[in-house]
Amino acid sequence: MHQLHQLKIVMKIDKQFEDIFRGKLYQVFMYLIDRCNLSCEQCLYKPNLAFQLHRKEIPYNEAKELLQKFYDLGASKVTFMGGEPTLYKELPQLINDAKEMGYSYVRMDTNGIFPKEFLDDKNVRKIDEITFSLDGYDEKTNSIRGVGVFKKCTESIKKAVKLGYMVQITCCIHKGLTKKYREKLGVSQDKLSKLAGVTLHTLTKIETGATSDPRIETLKKIAKGLSVSVDDLIK
Ligand code: SF4
Repeated sequence: MHQLHQLKIVMKIDKQFEDIFRGKLYQVFMYLIDRCNLSCEQCLYKPNLAFQLHRKEIPYNEAKELLQKFYDLGASKVTFMGGEPTLYKELPQLINDAKEMGYSYVRMDTNGIFPKEFLDDKNVRKIDEITFSLDGYDEKTNSIRGVGVFKKCTESIKKAVKLGYMVQITCCIHKGLTKKYREKLGVSQDKLSKLAGVTLHTLTKIETGATSDPRIETLKKIAKGLSVSVDDLIK
């Protein structure tokens, strides 16, 4: 365990990767930091013991260097991610770097939990899009992200919209959403399974949260079985 902390991680682009992608790279997703200020039920990081023991992030100079290399390989679009990327101290600087390098589209994925002033930063203002993670339409349906998160995140979204940012929302489908329509229509799981042509096992896994990211084809079938649109199902 002690040795794990002493490991030096160096971020480099593999030569083979360069050879394969030179001139063909279109966009990159940069995971800058593993740290996060939330503890969502569906988080992929939680089972990862290394995340708990050895919280890591890409040193700024290496991140900037990688960004330049990706640009030289052809990338024109970059998404900054984490963990929670706003915890990465140099994120505003990196957004500015990306725009100065020539990236035509710079975006980030965030849980929306950051200080109010973050959106006022002159470098952050240069970003082309902010995608907020929100998994419900109120405090209750968003509770898989934690208590009070809905209010804080929607406050950030409102401010971003007011300041003129391009805002998108990304949402995990979970039991609170699918189950809502089925119960509203008084349809049993068994009946919906037959109406939608989705196995009872799959439906049960979605509604219990065992499957948090069902395929879009499955969602289309469920939406059709309930006579609602996929948008209705997830909003
Ligand atoms: S915001 Fe994202 S990284 Fe953070 S705990 Fe939630 S799912 Fe995990």
